[in-house]
Amino acid sequence: MRIAFISDIHSNLEALTGVLKTIEHLDVGQIWCLGDIVGYGPFPGACVDMVRERCTVVLKGNHEAGTLSELPPAHFNEHGRIAVRWTKDQLTGEQSSYLKSLPPATVLNGITVAHATPHLPDTWRYILSWKDAREAFVGLSTEICFIGHTHVPVIVGENGSLNTFGRGTRYIVNVGSVGQPRDGNPKASFGLFDSERWTYENVRVSYDVEKTAASLMAAGLPDYLAQRLFLGV
Ligand code: ZN
Repeated sequence: MRIAFISDIHSNLEALTGVLKTIEHLDVGQIWCLGDIVGYGPFPGACVDMVRERCTVVLKGNHEAGTLSELPPAHFNEHGRIAVRWTKDQLTGEQSSYLKSLPPATVLNGITVAHATPHLPDTWRYILSWKDAREAFVGLSTEICFIGHTHVPVIVGENGSLNTFGRGTRYIVNVGSVGQPRDGNPKASFGLFDSERWTYENVRVSYDVEKTAASLMAAGLPDYLAQRLFLGV
Protein backbone atom coordinates (compact mmCIF):
# COMPACT_ATOMS: atom_id res chain seq x y z
CA MET A 1 0.00 0.00 0.00
CA ARG A 2 1.11 3.55 -0.70
CA ILE A 3 0.84 5.89 2.26
CA ALA A 4 1.18 9.67 1.99
CA PHE A 5 2.63 11.32 5.09
CA ILE A 6 1.77 14.97 5.66
CA SER A 7 3.01 17.09 8.57
CA ASP A 8 3.31 20.65 9.87
CA ILE A 9 0.41 22.08 7.90
CA HIS A 10 0.28 25.11 10.20
CA SER A 11 -3.15 26.37 9.16
CA ASN A 12 -2.03 26.87 5.56
CA LEU A 13 -5.20 25.85 3.73
CA GLU A 14 -3.87 26.67 0.24
CA ALA A 15 -0.86 24.39 0.75
CA LEU A 16 -2.97 21.60 2.29
CA THR A 17 -5.52 21.73 -0.53
CA GLY A 18 -2.72 21.61 -3.13
CA VAL A 19 -1.08 18.63 -1.46
CA LEU A 20 -4.35 16.69 -1.13
CA LYS A 21 -5.13 17.36 -4.81
CA THR A 22 -1.71 15.99 -5.80
CA ILE A 23 -2.22 12.94 -3.57
CA GLU A 24 -5.54 12.18 -5.33
CA HIS A 25 -3.58 11.46 -8.52
CA LEU A 26 -1.00 9.20 -6.88
CA ASP A 27 -2.84 5.94 -6.12
CA VAL A 28 -2.47 6.48 -2.38
CA GLY A 29 -4.32 4.10 -0.03
CA GLN A 30 -4.07 6.16 3.15
CA ILE A 31 -2.94 9.59 4.32
CA TRP A 32 -1.29 9.89 7.74
CA CYS A 33 -0.86 13.30 9.38
CA LEU A 34 2.06 13.77 11.78
CA GLY A 35 0.82 16.83 13.67
CA ASP A 36 1.06 20.63 13.81
CA ILE A 37 -2.13 21.05 11.81
CA VAL A 38 -2.52 24.47 13.44
CA GLY A 39 -0.27 27.37 14.47
CA TYR A 40 1.31 30.23 12.44
CA GLY A 41 -1.24 30.33 9.59
CA PRO A 42 -4.69 31.84 8.98
CA PHE A 43 -7.07 28.84 8.61
CA PRO A 44 -6.73 26.50 11.62
CA GLY A 45 -10.36 25.33 11.81
CA ALA A 46 -10.66 24.49 8.11
CA CYS A 47 -7.35 22.59 8.21
CA VAL A 48 -8.42 20.58 11.28
CA ASP A 49 -11.70 19.61 9.58
CA MET A 50 -9.96 18.63 6.32
CA VAL A 51 -7.30 16.52 8.06
CA ARG A 52 -9.91 14.84 10.23
CA GLU A 53 -11.97 13.93 7.19
CA ARG A 54 -9.12 12.70 4.98
CA CYS A 55 -6.51 11.11 7.24
CA THR A 56 -6.42 7.57 8.65
CA VAL A 57 -3.87 8.41 11.37
CA VAL A 58 -3.55 11.87 12.94
CA LEU A 59 -1.00 12.88 15.60
CA LYS A 60 -0.82 15.83 17.96
CA GLY A 61 2.04 18.32 17.48
CA ASN A 62 3.49 20.87 19.88
CA HIS A 63 1.36 23.62 18.32
CA GLU A 64 -1.79 21.63 19.11
CA ALA A 65 -0.46 21.14 22.65
CA GLY A 66 0.19 24.91 22.94
CA THR A 67 -3.24 25.78 21.60
CA LEU A 68 -4.81 23.40 24.14
CA SER A 69 -2.75 24.98 26.98
CA GLU A 70 -0.94 21.66 27.51
CA LEU A 71 2.34 23.52 26.92
CA PRO A 72 3.27 26.89 28.47
CA PRO A 73 3.62 29.95 26.17
CA ALA A 74 7.37 29.99 27.01
CA HIS A 75 7.79 26.84 24.87
CA PHE A 76 7.29 28.99 21.75
CA ASN A 77 9.21 31.89 20.24
CA GLU A 78 7.50 35.28 20.02
CA HIS A 79 5.79 34.69 16.65
CA GLY A 80 4.73 31.20 17.69
CA ARG A 81 3.24 32.56 20.93
CA ILE A 82 1.21 35.21 19.10
CA ALA A 83 -0.06 32.58 16.66
CA VAL A 84 -0.93 30.10 19.44
CA ARG A 85 -2.94 32.77 21.25
CA TRP A 86 -4.74 33.78 18.05
CA THR A 87 -5.44 30.14 17.10
CA LYS A 88 -7.05 29.39 20.49
CA ASP A 89 -9.87 31.81 19.66
CA GLN A 90 -10.46 30.37 16.19
CA LEU A 91 -11.22 26.74 17.08
CA THR A 92 -14.64 25.44 18.10
CA GLY A 93 -14.98 23.40 21.30
CA GLU A 94 -15.52 20.36 19.12
CA GLN A 95 -12.32 20.94 17.15
CA SER A 96 -10.35 21.47 20.38
CA SER A 97 -11.70 18.23 21.90
CA TYR A 98 -10.70 16.38 18.76
CA LEU A 99 -7.13 17.77 18.93
CA LYS A 100 -6.97 16.89 22.62
CA SER A 101 -7.76 13.26 21.82
CA LEU A 102 -4.76 12.84 19.48
CA PRO A 103 -1.55 11.03 20.55
CA PRO A 104 1.94 12.53 19.93
CA ALA A 105 3.14 9.19 18.49
CA THR A 106 1.83 5.76 17.60
CA VAL A 107 2.81 2.44 16.00
CA LEU A 108 0.62 0.87 13.32
CA ASN A 109 1.34 -2.00 10.88
CA GLY A 110 5.03 -2.01 11.78
CA ILE A 111 5.41 1.72 11.18
CA THR A 112 6.24 4.19 13.96
CA VAL A 113 5.01 7.75 13.53
CA ALA A 114 5.77 10.67 15.85
CA HIS A 115 5.50 14.41 15.50
CA ALA A 116 8.90 15.06 17.10
CA THR A 117 10.81 11.92 18.19
CA PRO A 118 9.80 8.25 18.51
CA HIS A 119 11.50 7.73 21.91
CA LEU A 120 10.27 10.78 23.86
CA PRO A 121 7.40 12.07 21.74
CA ASP A 122 5.82 14.42 24.28
CA THR A 123 9.05 16.28 25.10
CA TRP A 124 8.97 17.80 21.59
CA ARG A 125 12.74 17.41 21.06
CA TYR A 126 14.24 18.03 17.65
CA ILE A 127 16.34 15.49 15.74
CA LEU A 128 19.03 17.80 14.40
CA SER A 129 22.25 15.80 14.71
CA TRP A 130 23.62 12.25 14.49
CA LYS A 131 23.63 12.17 18.29
CA ASP A 132 19.91 13.00 18.36
CA ALA A 133 19.24 10.39 15.67
CA ARG A 134 21.21 7.67 17.49
CA GLU A 135 19.19 8.26 20.67
CA ALA A 136 15.97 8.05 18.67
CA PHE A 137 16.99 4.76 17.01
CA VAL A 138 17.68 3.25 20.46
CA GLY A 139 14.07 3.94 21.43
CA LEU A 140 12.62 2.81 18.09
CA SER A 141 10.98 -0.63 18.01
CA THR A 142 10.12 -0.81 14.29
CA GLU A 143 12.06 -0.91 11.03
CA ILE A 144 10.87 2.51 9.97
CA CYS A 145 9.70 5.76 11.52
CA PHE A 146 8.20 8.91 10.00
CA ILE A 147 8.40 12.27 11.76
CA GLY A 148 7.96 16.03 11.20
CA HIS A 149 8.64 18.94 13.58
CA THR A 150 11.82 20.46 12.06
CA HIS A 151 10.10 21.32 8.74
CA VAL A 152 13.20 20.02 6.90
CA PRO A 153 12.81 16.82 4.85
CA VAL A 154 15.60 14.29 5.42
CA ILE A 155 16.11 10.50 5.48
CA VAL A 156 18.45 9.25 8.21
CA GLY A 157 19.64 5.62 8.14
CA GLU A 158 20.73 3.80 11.28
CA ASN A 159 23.91 2.79 9.37
CA GLY A 160 24.85 6.47 9.01
CA SER A 161 23.39 7.01 5.54
CA LEU A 162 21.76 10.28 4.59
CA ASN A 163 18.98 10.72 2.01
CA THR A 164 19.11 7.22 0.58
CA PHE A 165 16.42 4.59 1.10
CA GLY A 166 16.32 0.81 0.72
CA ARG A 167 16.51 -2.46 2.64
CA GLY A 168 19.13 -3.50 5.15
CA THR A 169 18.99 -0.68 7.68
CA ARG A 170 16.37 1.16 9.69
CA TYR A 171 15.26 4.69 8.83
CA ILE A 172 13.89 7.78 10.48
CA VAL A 173 12.31 9.86 7.73
CA ASN A 174 11.37 13.50 8.18
CA VAL A 175 8.64 14.24 5.63
CA GLY A 176 9.06 18.04 5.73
CA SER A 177 6.32 20.62 6.14
CA VAL A 178 3.17 21.19 4.09
CA GLY A 179 2.50 24.72 5.27
CA GLN A 180 5.81 26.28 6.33
CA PRO A 181 8.83 24.59 4.67
CA ARG A 182 12.20 25.61 6.12
CA ASP A 183 14.69 23.98 3.74
CA GLY A 184 14.95 26.96 1.38
CA ASN A 185 12.31 25.52 -0.97
CA PRO A 186 8.93 27.29 -0.55
CA LYS A 187 6.96 24.43 -2.17
CA ALA A 188 4.79 22.31 0.16
CA SER A 189 6.47 19.04 1.17
CA PHE A 190 5.08 15.59 1.86
CA GLY A 191 6.30 11.98 1.91
CA LEU A 192 5.20 9.06 -0.22
CA PHE A 193 5.97 5.56 1.06
CA ASP A 194 5.24 2.25 -0.67
CA SER A 195 5.16 -0.45 2.00
CA GLU A 196 5.26 -3.34 -0.52
CA ARG A 197 7.99 -2.06 -2.83
CA TRP A 198 9.73 -0.42 0.13
CA THR A 199 10.31 2.86 -1.66
CA TYR A 200 10.12 6.41 -0.39
CA GLU A 201 10.12 9.79 -2.08
CA ASN A 202 9.77 13.38 -0.94
CA VAL A 203 7.22 15.22 -3.11
CA ARG A 204 7.04 19.02 -3.52
CA VAL A 205 3.93 20.92 -4.56
CA SER A 206 3.58 24.55 -5.68
CA TYR A 207 0.70 26.50 -4.16
CA ASP A 208 -0.53 30.09 -4.06
CA VAL A 209 1.85 31.53 -1.43
CA GLU A 210 0.59 35.08 -2.14
CA LYS A 211 -2.93 34.05 -1.16
CA THR A 212 -1.86 32.48 2.14
CA ALA A 213 0.39 35.46 2.93
CA ALA A 214 -2.44 37.94 2.26
CA SER A 215 -4.88 35.97 4.48
CA LEU A 216 -2.25 35.73 7.19
CA MET A 217 -1.74 39.49 7.27
CA ALA A 218 -5.48 40.18 7.03
CA ALA A 219 -5.89 38.03 10.16
CA GLY A 220 -3.49 40.35 11.99
CA LEU A 221 -0.78 37.69 12.37
CA PRO A 222 2.90 38.83 12.31
CA ASP A 223 4.24 39.93 8.87
CA TYR A 224 7.30 37.76 9.35
CA LEU A 225 5.13 34.62 9.25
CA ALA A 226 3.94 35.69 5.79
CA GLN A 227 7.39 36.71 4.50
CA ARG A 228 9.07 33.43 5.40
CA LEU A 229 6.61 31.44 3.25
CA PHE A 230 8.00 33.07 0.07
CA LEU A 231 11.52 31.96 0.94
CA GLY A 232 10.82 28.60 2.57
CA VAL A 233 12.75 29.46 5.72
ZN1 ZN B 1 5.68 22.56 13.10
